[in-house]
Amino acid sequence: MKEDKKPTIVVSRCLGFCNCRYNGDMISDKFVEKLKKYVNYITVCPEVDIGLETPRKPIRLILEKEKIELYEPHSGNVYTREMDEYSNEFFKSLEEVHGFILKGRSPSCGTKNVKLYLGKEKTIGSKKSIGLFASYAIKNYPYLPIEEEGRLTNHAIREHFLIKVYIFFKFKEVEKSNSIKELIKFHSNNKYLLMAYNRSQLKHLGQIVANDEKNILMKL
Ligand code: SF4
Repeated sequence: MKEDKKPTIVVSRCLGFCNCRYNGDMISDKFVEKLKKYVNYITVCPEVDIGLETPRKPIRLILEKEKIELYEPHSGNVYTREMDEYSNEFFKSLEEVHGFILKGRSPSCGTKNVKLYLGKEKTIGSKKSIGLFASYAIKNYPYLPIEEEGRLTNHAIREHFLIKVYIFFKFKEVEKSNSIKELIKFHSNNKYLLMAYNRSQLKHLGQIVANDEKNILMKL
């Protein structure tokens, strides 16, 4: 059951929740496991959710007529339309979320450095791209922390990820309260953190808060 007092993170299901990798494996990830107590997870396996079986033949990203396709070399099937439709639906129905932990190097979930082959044959060459499902996450939530499990083993990246998840979660709480007093409190509690990330945005927020503070005082 979802608890409102915890942030919500969308996580690739193969990271400790289900044996849904193409080879029937699951990956146990210590950080994802540790975080279970502190966040609500929404698990997702785009490949299984579009109807692919486990185990299954590997799929890959290929470039065909300048379009990125999700291709299964063994059968020659293309699953781009299914993945596009699924991703659209998933993000349309997704409620409040504060971050993503996705499986790296996957043609569906990888957020960076996913191999995009320049044709159906591997020998043609490849370049770096983003998994199809992950590209929807990035497009829909450009302001949220979206990380791969591998990058989160780096403690600096992990720290930034957690800061962003929790600050965004707290800000959404303020937004829901619809209270300028809560916004002022949020601003003063997090002033130095905001300063460390973006001085000009902190200044901008300070102006908003100061104007409203004056309005509150005038109404008293
Ligand atoms: S990487 Fe994504 S699509 Fe692949 S098994 Fe894991 S959750 Fe499913």
